[in-house]
Amino acid sequence: MKAKAFENELTYRYYEETDDVEAFHEAYEDAVETVRAELGETHDLLIDGERVATDAHFEVTSPGDQTLTVGEFAAGDADDIDDAVRAASAVADEWEGFDVADRVAIFRDAAATMRDRKFELAATISLENGKNRTEAMADVDEAIDFLEFYSRECERSNGYDFDTGEPTPGQHTRNLLRPYGVFGVIAPFNFPMAIFVGMTAGALLTGNTVVAKPAESTPLIAETCMAIMQDAGLPDGVLNFVTGDGPNAGQPLVEHEDVAGVVFTGSREVGLSIRETFSEQGKHGPVIAELGGKNPVIVSDAADVDAAVEGVMKGAFSFSGQKCSATSRVYVHEGVYDEFTEALVDETEALVVGPATERETFVSPVISDAALERYESITERAAADGTVRTGGAVRTEGDLEDGRFVEPTVVTDVPHEHDLARDEHFLPFVTVHPIADLDEGIRKSNDSEYGLCAGLFSEDDAEIDRWFDEIESGMCYANRSQSATTGALVQAQPFGGWKYSGTTGKFAGGYWYLQQFMREQTQTRVE
Ligand code: GLU
Repeated sequence: MKAKAFENELTYRYYEETDDVEAFHEAYEDAVETVRAELGETHDLLIDGERVATDAHFEVTSPGDQTLTVGEFAAGDADDIDDAVRAASAVADEWEGFDVADRVAIFRDAAATMRDRKFELAATISLENGKNRTEAMADVDEAIDFLEFYSRECERSNGYDFDTGEPTPGQHTRNLLRPYGVFGVIAPFNFPMAIFVGMTAGALLTGNTVVAKPAESTPLIAETCMAIMQDAGLPDGVLNFVTGDGPNAGQPLVEHEDVAGVVFTGSREVGLSIRETFSEQGKHGPVIAELGGKNPVIVSDAADVDAAVEGVMKGAFSFSGQKCSATSRVYVHEGVYDEFTEALVDETEALVVGPATERETFVSPVISDAALERYESITERAAADGTVRTGGAVRTEGDLEDGRFVEPTVVTDVPHEHDLARDEHFLPFVTVHPIADLDEGIRKSNDSEYGLCAGLFSEDDAEIDRWFDEIESGMCYANRSQSATTGALVQAQPFGGWKYSGTTGKFAGGYWYLQQFMREQTQTRVE
């Protein structure tokens, strides 16, 4: 595979702030050195405002260099979860009683701290979960955006509290949304800051108290953000933090009788099992879940093919395809199929696979040994059942030796029905399929249990209108060369899915998100 230097674009936010690109790189690289020197510590839980040590710990290493220990983290268990939930229950009434302005002030303060420390936070993300500098900075920016947007929404809605007037003489009525009580927050590794902070702040700003469990592979950035929110003025017990694995910490959290609601981002299986647990236990509270995707892109014969190639390449391979929103199947009109596929292969071969902190790196490491094994298995099957046009190998040469690096992979000649083109892989792996017309593209796009993100490349407005009408997808992007399906912006592009991609149909970073964390009450007082 040939390699060319790929100049990563800066995040949209940084462009707004400065045109000094070199200053960005220098500040990031300095922060990487500072953060790297501080890795390897032992970390405790946070319960009721106190640090709690456990006997057992688990080690987290950097996916790009497994000889680098990120830290030793407390292995929380059912007893720790019980303590944390009790602490959260004990202060639930007090926190509900806070003025919305006071709650908002805490999260604005946390956002300001994150802005001040953004290079350090981005460097932590790169070292812990392997995002390159652009993606890591976008993760930080998105977390700040969630805090600012949700704070504004709480203010705009007067804390979701309305005086509905006096419907009949003497009957004074107030209609409001109230918190459920204790929320479990279970966060993923792939947006270890943005999604952790967004879900936690969503639950807290709406007056719930929280027990948060970060992904097992990314506890450090989550702990740093938890501490920022805590230090911004959360009363003890309002936010509790328990690191650990799914069976020993996540499951007891979901099952705890005093946990009223869960907000989760992750796999379809886990999301559905949380919902099942809730219904078996007869719980009435919400399971707010954002689950996977198998995101299709259609390239019409009326497309700007260069734009389509760039959009698909970035959608499929940024952060090594480890996004629910990653482009994973492409339906290309037979009139432009060869041209598109050849150009996609060329562009893909030019991408630099490398350590997250290197400036040229586009394709950074995958998160775990399980991901590496999954890659080997699907690329072997692709070679047997189809054609691997580029990629397919694990990379171990030079400074890649101690990390988990894989080549971005483009596959053709597997049928649309093949499970390689149906299952979510969460890897830099995309299948390309010829279609005869837009109808076939829409039919095949919709033939999926998922409905998260979809893309269309066409210069024909009538095609775009028809596609918007008929595509079964939460996020629909037409002609987005910046990335065909990934990279939604808070408020501007509320993010979520249809079908098995989500359980409530309300979108993160959108105007209806916070309402899911509350239950409605109408209070009428007759005087
Ligand atoms: N919001 C992210 C995006 O638009 C994806 C979130 C996820 O992968 O869970 O790319």
